[in-house]
Amino acid sequence: MAIYCKKPAELAQIHASCQVVYQVQQALEAAITPGVTTLELDHLAEQIIRARGGRPAFKGYHGFPGSICASVNEEVVHGFPNQRPLQAGDLLTVDVGVELEGFYGDGAFTCGVGALSGPAQHLLDTTRACLEAGIDPARAGGRLSDISHAVQCRAEAAGTAVVRQYGGHGIGRALHEDPHVSNYGPPGRGPRLQPGLVLAIEPILSLGAHQVEVDEDGWTTRTRDGALAAHCEHTVAITEAGPWVLTLPGDGPR
Ligand code: MG
Repeated sequence: MAIYCKKPAELAQIHASCQVVYQVQQALEAAITPGVTTLELDHLAEQIIRARGGRPAFKGYHGFPGSICASVNEEVVHGFPNQRPLQAGDLLTVDVGVELEGFYGDGAFTCGVGALSGPAQHLLDTTRACLEAGIDPARAGGRLSDISHAVQCRAEAAGTAVVRQYGGHGIGRALHEDPHVSNYGPPGRGPRLQPGLVLAIEPILSLGAHQVEVDEDGWTTRTRDGALAAHCEHTVAITEAGPWVLTLPGDGPR
């Protein structure tokens, strides 16, 4: 596994790309309401990314048609933006990737379209908590699977399942770099975390079982049992001073 730690100038460029991801997410969250379509959200995302000199990193990636992935309810990841209006109570995940001057940023959020049912809100709260739990051990000197273990423990303590087929990844000069960041497993395994390593940390959870299946379109992934799924992601840099969440406002580790 080839792991490449970024130099400060490269980190600054990845940060700039991640800030566009954040701006897109803010605009989309404000636009998400019953009746809006995920294709409209997709167009809004592309407009903002291009206005800032970037390129939607997902568009055309192995043939993916959208600027965003939009996954609703039992859809887990990689949903195509489409013309079906969102309905009150839907659980929507939007994943955004940006390339800016050759550097990548990646972030996903899940939110409710209007008010959510109790179980859906529980899944959403747990997924957000899992992302926080996964970011905390992203520290120099730790091991990669400390992140994985933290996510799994938080998910399972809340009675939810980690979708095992997908996980996070290194990111920087490519959208997906080594290492793969699993969302489950024992702690203390894998490469030692070092300053300059940039990881997309992205817990993906189901309210039911962890098994998923992919539609005939080759992309849209849904839970096999039809249970609700949620997915939250930040791009995070490991620094001497702790984890730096590049896809949030701020110029350094919190
Ligand atoms: Mg990602």
